[in-house]
Amino acid sequence: MDKLSKYDVLIVGGGTSGCACAYNCAKLGLKTLLIEKNNFLGGLMTGGLVVPIMKSSVEDLNCGFYKKLIDTAKKFNAQITYSDKNDGWLNPEVLKIVLEEVLEFNNLDILFETTVESISYNENKINSVILKSNILSIPIEAMYFIDATGSAEFSILANCDILPSENKKQQNSLRFILGNVNIEEFCNFITEIDKDENITNTYRNDRDTNNELHFTTASTWDTSCYWALDKYLQKGVNEGILNEKDRSYFQIFSIAGAKNQVAFNCPRIDNYQNNPYMASKELISAKKAIWRIYNFVKKYFPGFQDSIITNIATQTGIREENRIKSKYVFTKEDLISSKTFDTPVLRANYSIDIHSANKNSSVLQKTSIYELPIESLMSANYDNLYMIGKILGADFEAHSALRVQKSCMSMGEAVANHIARKLI
Ligand SMILES: Cc1cc2nc3c(=O)[nH]c(=O)nc-3n(C[C@H](O)[C@H](O)[C@H](O)COP(=O)(O)OP(=O)(O)OC[C@H]3O[C@@H](n4cnc5c(N)ncnc54)[C@H](O)[C@@H]3O)c2cc1C
Repeated sequence: MDKLSKYDVLIVGGGTSGCACAYNCAKLGLKTLLIEKNNFLGGLMTGGLVVPIMKSSVEDLNCGFYKKLIDTAKKFNAQITYSDKNDGWLNPEVLKIVLEEVLEFNNLDILFETTVESISYNENKINSVILKSNILSIPIEAMYFIDATGSAEFSILANCDILPSENKKQQNSLRFILGNVNIEEFCNFITEIDKDENITNTYRNDRDTNNELHFTTASTWDTSCYWALDKYLQKGVNEGILNEKDRSYFQIFSIAGAKNQVAFNCPRIDNYQNNPYMASKELISAKKAIWRIYNFVKKYFPGFQDSIITNIATQTGIREENRIKSKYVFTKEDLISSKTFDTPVLRANYSIDIHSANKNSSVLQKTSIYELPIESLMSANYDNLYMIGKILGADFEAHSALRVQKSCMSMGEAVANHIARKLI
């Protein structure tokens, strides 16, 4: 296959932000190609097992994709609305099917198991790319290119400038799911030992959830608050079932449409993105940690005694990797001062949220509603390249707030609007 195909927009990466962008491009009538290296859509939402979507008071700006996703997931029994009115509690496996349903458009092509082999560009414009799919090379020409890879693979291949890390790094995680958990029994246990509604809460809504019982709870080694589960984790460490690092961050949630499954937002992985040998060793250690945590909960937490490991994330949970230099680099000061912009992409209030490797160094700082300008998604190097999702042009602290799924979706949607205004 070597015939050149022409599109208005090529989106590289069918994850959280890429799906939102593809949806809106197609809805606005643009001839769109979405390529994805996995055999499913969703990125961290599905392959990374990242649930639920964090609640962020987005004031109805570029939320069309989010609403469509929630409505469609509801029809697939893959969504619940939690007691705090967060309707973003989803089922990560069923979401793979839901996303394909949401993205069914005649003017949108999706290519799975496809990546970018090479890019042809001149001074400030990307002209065309060669895609790689199994043994085939596919030449593609497009007017606009969107990097939605989560890692900035496309921008790096195009030699774009990367923002300096300043030695600040988020901790990563390898998430997993246990099945065959007796959630009723576990909820009786945690509500008995932990009455703090901030850390632990349970919720049953007969109408919404088919009488499913849902919960969230956590424990970390930070001493900033009282963690009722920590005495059990400490015991696990003392008895040699857990390592001290396993105590650093432990967070679990129930899953929409899954009466006996529990999603774990742990174990943590150290950050070795630029060293594949170290990163691979970390992934092996993470699976050993999953095995330890599994044996720990089976022994100590009522309801987990018959549990089994059903899923280990196929996509590593990398919170922050490469942020690309944009026409306007959004800063923590912009965020905290609620600076307003002519062309806002989103309005949100998710906190500055930094997961640190060191005890008592993590940050969860509440904010007022902030805006993000479209210029923070426009490449500083090329006039027809945009970066959306967790590779946006923002400093480390601002990024830590903007990286949540709802904001990544608004970025994708806003870029589609921006391009459509130029083309139509
Ligand atoms: C451990 C962890 C926990 C989190 N917890 C939450 C949470 O509870 N709630 C919340 O709202 N947010 C949470 N987040 C943040 C949020 O999930 C991510 O920041 C967001 O999903 C990133 O979206 P994205 O589109 O940038 O990347 P992704 O969703 O990762 O999408 C990138 C896509 O690009 C594809 N891709 C990559 N390279 C190529 C290539 N060369 N060619 C083709 N395809 C490619 C990938 O396969 C993937 O599908 C968490 C993140 C992590 C890591």
